[in-house]
Amino acid sequence: MQALRILQVAAEATPYAKAGGLADVIGGLSAELAAQGHDVRVVVPNYVELLPDNLRLHPVGDEHVVEIAGSSITFSFVRAEASPGEPLPYFVHCPDFFGTGGIYSSGEEEAQRFLLLCRAALQLCHDVEWAPQILHCHDWHTGLSPTLIRFDTRYSRLFATTSSVLTIHNIGYQGIFQRRVVAEAGLGQVAESLHGDVKPDDVNFLRTAIRHADAMTTVSPTHAQEIRTEQYGMGLQDDLNRRAHRLTGILNGADYRLWDPVHDQMIPARFGPGRLTGKATCRHELLRELQLDAPANVPVLGMVSRLVDHKGIDLAALVLPEFLEDNRLACVILGDGDSELVAALREIQTRFPQRCGFVAGYDEALAHRIIAGSDLLAVPSRYEPCGLTQMYALRYGTVPVVRATGGLADTITHFDPDTGQGNGAVFLDADPGGLRWALNTSAGWFQDRGDWVRLQANGMAADFSWRRQAPLYLRLYQRLLDGVRH
Ligand code: ADP
Repeated sequence: MQALRILQVAAEATPYAKAGGLADVIGGLSAELAAQGHDVRVVVPNYVELLPDNLRLHPVGDEHVVEIAGSSITFSFVRAEASPGEPLPYFVHCPDFFGTGGIYSSGEEEAQRFLLLCRAALQLCHDVEWAPQILHCHDWHTGLSPTLIRFDTRYSRLFATTSSVLTIHNIGYQGIFQRRVVAEAGLGQVAESLHGDVKPDDVNFLRTAIRHADAMTTVSPTHAQEIRTEQYGMGLQDDLNRRAHRLTGILNGADYRLWDPVHDQMIPARFGPGRLTGKATCRHELLRELQLDAPANVPVLGMVSRLVDHKGIDLAALVLPEFLEDNRLACVILGDGDSELVAALREIQTRFPQRCGFVAGYDEALAHRIIAGSDLLAVPSRYEPCGLTQMYALRYGTVPVVRATGGLADTITHFDPDTGQGNGAVFLDADPGGLRWALNTSAGWFQDRGDWVRLQANGMAADFSWRRQAPLYLRLYQRLLDGVRH
């Protein structure tokens, strides 16, 4: 295959700024595509407060000034260093929009920030005279870029032969704003093209991308089917069905450069298949760190999650107390999000101080220590486009307990002690009964040494690497370039 020029544009990318799985995917996919010889450039905002301190940044090109909602906004570009075989990371430097606070904000400013990102990514290509063959945008934040390369005459020439790909990482977030924000961001031509797209006065960034991208993917085959239904489509199912021939599901990969207990420096001891002493150390240290007390025959259940409704955290909060009460589980939870869910988890922690550890907030290293030190990892999602933590758990010999939805259904199969097949516990209904059953079942397997060793070995043997998954994107890119719309 010829080397391709691929532009990835996203709101987050590991190792520069991360709120969730999106960042891991941009980081892991780009690295693998570049390692396979492609010219990959990644554009993300320069979240000044979040970038790692040791990053050496170099200015690129001139400053630009744009009028956005009556204010003059200045932006420029910086790039980090990259060796051959690595993606080239560029950052949109715009202190007015990305200078303070976190990755996401709210309200109209959110639309302005990400419209600027879309536009700046194209401007960068213009400035460095580099025309990508593939423009790959991700989620609603960058969803207007396929429209921009088509309808904004400032860019349409440079991108005349570029094919666009939209990946939907989470259809629950669509970016719905008043349509005038697009015109107010200096993108009048694009605003014109949106007539009739949605409600007359609104723009839905994700819907616009679904209508204009040359191809769409979502992050697992099962979820690609789910989002075409009323139950999971979040109002976009008709748009998706209309262009279903352009939609595929490509399972995310796990970035084993960062998530592998054999060389993970964030965990107290290293381990791997067939040598699990280090895992016992990780469990011991995790319990000590959170001042928990769990005898060796009680499994430790971990959770690392954004605390939002669709992750099913409320189900866990309902069911966990009975397991903690009976001393059938200990649990360690790390999460950031809804204050009601935080309060519910705090209450459980207060009730069972020696059995339940809860850390509210975002902590990358603790996430590694929990996934390494736990015996079970619960992902009881109502919907889960792909889910990464269950894949990481498998690698760390931690048995996933998941609901059968989206990528969880594509990666975890329910263990059968008779055949020794399967890598986790899978429940069907997103209700307390379903989770209770799965926790009971997996806590039972923990009591049988033979079952447990087998389960761990099955999980650790799985390969969900980007080395396997990135070629699926390459195949899609190539088909687009060959003019075959699938
Ligand atoms: P989503 O993208 O919906 O948040 P995924 O399972 O795809 O869910 O990815 C979640 C990623 O974010 C994983 O890398 C997980 O370790 C990380 N993560 C989630 N919450 C936290 C947290 N509070 N602290 C540290 N890492 C977190």
